[in-house]
Amino acid sequence: MVDAFIGLGSNLENPQEQVLLALTRLRAHKDIANLQVSSLYRSKPYGVTNQPDFTNAVAKFSTNLSALELLDLLQTIEQEHKRVRLIHWGPRTLDLDLLYYGNEFINNERLIVPHPQILLRAFVVIPLLEIAPDFKTPDGFLLRDIIPKLPKDDVEGLKVI
Ligand code: ATP
Ligand code: CA
Ligand code: CA
Repeated sequence: MVDAFIGLGSNLENPQEQVLLALTRLRAHKDIANLQVSSLYRSKPYGVTNQPDFTNAVAKFSTNLSALELLDLLQTIEQEHKRVRLIHWGPRTLDLDLLYYGNEFINNERLIVPHPQILLRAFVVIPLLEIAPDFKTPDGFLLRDIIPKLPKDDVEGLKVI
């Protein structure tokens, strides 16, 4: 079994429900165990800013799916939520990103792990630390040490729902 962290995000069609439904779906999966989830957070849109606020959360679980099998599952769940990918970083009913997969570094056509944007995103770092305050990244530093480097406005703008 490998410990995996995923980020969940939604800003369309009842975002909280989208996120909670995805978590229920993951919790029920036979190859996923010990799922823990952060609070739900409201965040300002990232990149493309003229769109609704996002609901974000981070979940941790153990799995015996390979990283690519897990990505397949995440993408299947996104499809079940009728996600339509129109604009990169644009509005979406559900976005599921694989953040960490054990201590593995993966870089292929479909998957980059750790997710390359983690350290820039308060809406990922803060919820992750809520469920794993002592989390060490695969390259061996304490994730909490990067909090001071996150944009202050992003950290302050993040609200627990
Ligand atoms: P970002 O990845 O910067 O958060 P995004 O979530 O909007 O942007 P998507 O359109 O959801 O990007 O994904 C584009 C592609 O990224 C997917 O088809 C997937 O194959 C690839 N991808 C690469 N690494 C990952 C990862 N760690 N988790 C999820 N998808 C990934
Ligand atoms: Ca994303
Ligand atoms: Ca994504």
